[in-house]
Amino acid sequence: MEIIKNDNPKFNKVDFENLSFGETFTDHMFICDFLDGNWVDPKIIPYQNISIDPSTSALHYGQAIFEGMKAYKDHNNKVWLFRPEDNFERLNKSCKRMKIPEIPKDIFMNGLKKLVSIDSDWVKPGNGNSLYIRPFVFASQATVQASPSSEYKFIIICSPAKSYYNESKFNVLISEKYSRASSGGVGFAKAAGNYGSSFYPTSIAQNKGYHQIIWTDSNEHKFIEEAGTMNIFFRIENKLITAPTNDRILDGITRKSVIQIAKDIGIDVEVRPFTVDELVAAVKNKSLKEIFGAGTAVVILSISGFGYKNIDYDIKPVKESYAEKIKKIITDIQYNRSDDKFGWRSEV
Ligand SMILES: *Cc1c(COP(=O)(O)O)cnc(C)c1O
Repeated sequence: MEIIKNDNPKFNKVDFENLSFGETFTDHMFICDFLDGNWVDPKIIPYQNISIDPSTSALHYGQAIFEGMKAYKDHNNKVWLFRPEDNFERLNKSCKRMKIPEIPKDIFMNGLKKLVSIDSDWVKPGNGNSLYIRPFVFASQATVQASPSSEYKFIIICSPAKSYYNESKFNVLISEKYSRASSGGVGFAKAAGNYGSSFYPTSIAQNKGYHQIIWTDSNEHKFIEEAGTMNIFFRIENKLITAPTNDRILDGITRKSVIQIAKDIGIDVEVRPFTVDELVAAVKNKSLKEIFGAGTAVVILSISGFGYKNIDYDIKPVKESYAEKIKKIITDIQYNRSDDKFGWRSEV
């Protein structure tokens, strides 16, 4: 792999204490092209603009997918990834659904690890600090033909992150009208357009004073599917419930880690469809103890209340919160503060 170092790095000019998420990027990027039927020319270059033709296919037809993952630094300045093979596999699932040629594993893994190691100073130690990594692929052929592109770019960029969404209140609005995904569609893929189409319904919820929208199924708006860009868990008494993955639900790596850890520490987990009616009944009879979202950006985020049919329901904070307990176990593994009994860490 060719590596061209940045001879004008901005690292020393960055104020790491005042970063807004996803707006500052490291000094290097990984880039690889799909040309004439092959992924070729993987390289690491200084972070820079890319020039594209106005007819670039992805801009017109949305053939674009991405991943989201993080690197963490431990007390000995070693840098770790969390379940990167799962991101690789999901990237290719997304590629396949969007008719994008799959990425060879060595290109993904070598590019990822080399890039993170070159920019490893950007990974700050300390709880909550991490390097957010954004691999993405888009159709780069210059054409407005409505057909799969013959050319693609696979790029990885990285952005230093601190823990965010740290307000103590996090209220959500259960959607009665909009959905993020439909059966037979692309909800299970990290397709760029899934996000594009979520912004409008999310903004409506935010204008009403909620932080996020809870997506319900597209047929009846009866089943609870996801919390914004996170998977969602409900604790009823001492049982955790989350929806099964299907073609409308993103198979989150945090979600499956939460399920595995919960079972490991003896919490009952039910993976089954969960309805809005059950949720409302559980809050009324006080069996609902917690709701939380799960995703790479926040790991676990406790939800403090929800709105549904013009009524707001509050969830009182619990002692011995499962969200807190599971979050600690996951982050201890991510930051190399505990044994890695499931084999989830991968050293850079
Ligand atoms: C990425 C994503 C998640 C979380 O997946 P993780 O692998 O845990 O980060 C959940 N829901 C949606 C819609 C997503 O795009």
